[in-house]
Amino acid sequence: MAGDKGVLIVTGGSRGIGAAVCRLAAREGYTVVVNYVANQAAADTLVAELVASGGKAHAVRGDVQHEADVLHLFAEADRLGPLAGLVNNAGVVDRPARVDEMSVERLSRMFAVNILGSFLCAREAVKRLSTRHGGKGGAIVNLSSAAAKLGAAAQYVDYAAAKGAIDTFTVGLSREVASEGVRVMAVRPGIIDTEIHASGGLPNRVAEMRGQLPMKREGSAEEVAKAILWLLSDEASYSTGAILDVSGGRATLP
Ligand code: NAP
Repeated sequence: MAGDKGVLIVTGGSRGIGAAVCRLAAREGYTVVVNYVANQAAADTLVAELVASGGKAHAVRGDVQHEADVLHLFAEADRLGPLAGLVNNAGVVDRPARVDEMSVERLSRMFAVNILGSFLCAREAVKRLSTRHGGKGGAIVNLSSAAAKLGAAAQYVDYAAAKGAIDTFTVGLSREVASEGVRVMAVRPGIIDTEIHASGGLPNRVAEMRGQLPMKREGSAEEVAKAILWLLSDEASYSTGAILDVSGGRATLP
């Protein structure tokens, strides 16, 4: 049975910002689908924690860059009840590199996970949420990044450009489905304390950046999750196409 608020799919929900979204969403009464790609232990541990505290949650493995996996993810969610929303959170970085050093394999993965994956998941969500397809409406929140505005020179311009694509995708899709009961928004986190930095070969990145940040501190995954939950909620009923900086003042110019 679905929680009172319906089913929320969180891609990359097993760790970091996604896990924080799952925690808040389960507490608010969503039935949470915790998607992950490799770390089953993290996903299972999180689901056990959410269920133990009275929430409804299910882990579903799936690589968002593969259509068959995305179809499976949504089919599993369909079994739990009507979809209420999607958080397109799964994302990857890579090791610092200049553009003239980037292999086609790196670029393909970067764009496939961060862009193609978000498109595929949003496509499946719109098919279920849009009144055009018989749905009752809902909301999609995409994860962009302050990097979309900064460009991430000599670090990961490919990642920054992928997040720039997410911004444009958010604006375009929001207008496409605005009259069909579906709101589409994004958040642009700044430097957030998760394992993504270590996965890009920079385990000390947060500590090294701290002194340069406007608030002299990094953000927490929960601070980003709170913004996402607000955007998903009826409190944000007249917001669509909005891209919210959750960056502690970093890169806040358009
Ligand atoms: P994270 O701690 O590295 O966690 C990444 C999550 O995504 C994990 O649950 C991982 O699953 C999942 N994942 C990775 N590749 C996937 C794929 N191909 N298919 C499905 N799931 C996949 O990342 P995070 O820092 O929370 O970042 C979450 C989002 O926020 C990303 O889109 C990121 O670009 C964005 N963001 C983060 C920051 C920051 O400073 N942390 C700043 C700006 C934007 P497994 O557990 O199975 O590996």
